Amino acid sequence: MRNPASTHNLTAEWQTIDAKHHLQPFTDYSVLHRKGAMIITRAEGVYIYDSDGNQILDGMAGLWCVNIGYGRAELGDIARKQILELPYYNTFFQSSHPPVLQLAQLLSEVSPLGFDKVFFTNSGSEANDTVIRAVRRYWDVMGCPTKSVIISRRNAYHGSTMGGASLGGMDGMHKQGGLPIPNIVHIGQPHWFLEGGDLSFEDFGLKVAQELATKIDELGEDRVAAFIGEPIQGAGGVVVPPDNYWPEIQRICRERNILLVADEVITGFGRTGRWFGSEYFGFEPDLMSIAKGLSSGYLPIGGVMFSNKVAEMLITKGGEFQHGYTYSGHPVSCAVAAENIRLLREERVIENVESKVGPYFQQQLGLLGDHPIVGEIRGAGLIAGIQLAADGPSKRRFQDPGNVGALCRQHAIKNGLIMRAVEDSMVLSPPLIITTTQIDELVDKVKNSLDATARDIGYL
Ligand code: PMP
Repeated sequence: MRNPASTHNLTAEWQTIDAKHHLQPFTDYSVLHRKGAMIITRAEGVYIYDSDGNQILDGMAGLWCVNIGYGRAELGDIARKQILELPYYNTFFQSSHPPVLQLAQLLSEVSPLGFDKVFFTNSGSEANDTVIRAVRRYWDVMGCPTKSVIISRRNAYHGSTMGGASLGGMDGMHKQGGLPIPNIVHIGQPHWFLEGGDLSFEDFGLKVAQELATKIDELGEDRVAAFIGEPIQGAGGVVVPPDNYWPEIQRICRERNILLVADEVITGFGRTGRWFGSEYFGFEPDLMSIAKGLSSGYLPIGGVMFSNKVAEMLITKGGEFQHGYTYSGHPVSCAVAAENIRLLREERVIENVESKVGPYFQQQLGLLGDHPIVGEIRGAGLIAGIQLAADGPSKRRFQDPGNVGALCRQHAIKNGLIMRAVEDSMVLSPPLIITTTQIDELVDKVKNSLDATARDIGYL
């Protein structure tokens, strides 16, 4: 569909400026410059519009973040009001301000019981850097300064700062910049399709969870501070563990006295149909990293939610916590995030994901399960990964992983759908306000993209 306010005549000009002056994240610049960037000029609801006026269904909610959908005037109004009233003041040096207080209180209301305190950051990466500082500080204060190792998982994504990328388990990132930093180690991930072998889903879940116990025992409990994981690995290709995985991880952490950190940057704020992914899987972390859906991406903000057990220790015995960012608790970001949470609550958006649109999305996508190039479909609520595979049920990976995924992604864009490829996993995470009619449109576009891909490689 054409957008009447099209600015298509500017596309080439913008692409030239982009190539000349802009360095994008996670981009091979020579590849980009050969074809030119996709320029997005506006958005409404679940749709984005490019500079040629094409309407595209945003199956990724930006970067897993625009939970409330695009174009909410309330968020613009509150930002404007806050900018005029108090555009900035810091929260260092024993200061605070109403928007940060309001948001902190709201967060304690929507979080699981016992999470009454939050430390604000500007992003998920900074939240996870804060986690590293906080868990090490916690064990220092507890009189166990040797407990400093943090265990994470291969193929995890926890951000792109030195700390975040070290916690992450992406080899490509580790190779650039001498990562991981010391005292961060990785165990296996619950990716049954790629690594499950002959084990059942559940047996594999227990087996990879047991790797945590083995690793702690190998290092010595007195050296390990925490385990961190995304309830569902997003950037790793939407890896949904079996139901027995997280309870077993929690059991191992409790038994061996190490902190459990849930990186809720993607799974927080309704993605699974619960406020937090840890609630969806029924486990109780000690700390939670948050960002993205916290403000639905309208302004940058993140944070770490502290369970009372950890917070009390830092408060009563920690002295000065020597950590923080100029924009920790930025008033405008906080005001927008608080309004975003108010809207999610008032409009019962998350309840609707749990009872209606989430199950419908999973059910409709599930119908593509026997497509000739689909190996498995993983998902929960409004997040899903479609694993492309050479011959469906027998689960054979394509040779040169990533080529078929990239092709499918191109077809999706041609079909007017943003669907990301993580190697050969096609990932989806649409705005939470998507309707069932729009889910039909999305699934239709997914099917057309799979068909076109299958035709290209001779499977249809
Ligand atoms: N944690 C997770 C689970 C993420 O998915 C991301 C971003 N995709 C981050 C942390 C990093 O967040 P940011 O890009 O805001 O730094």
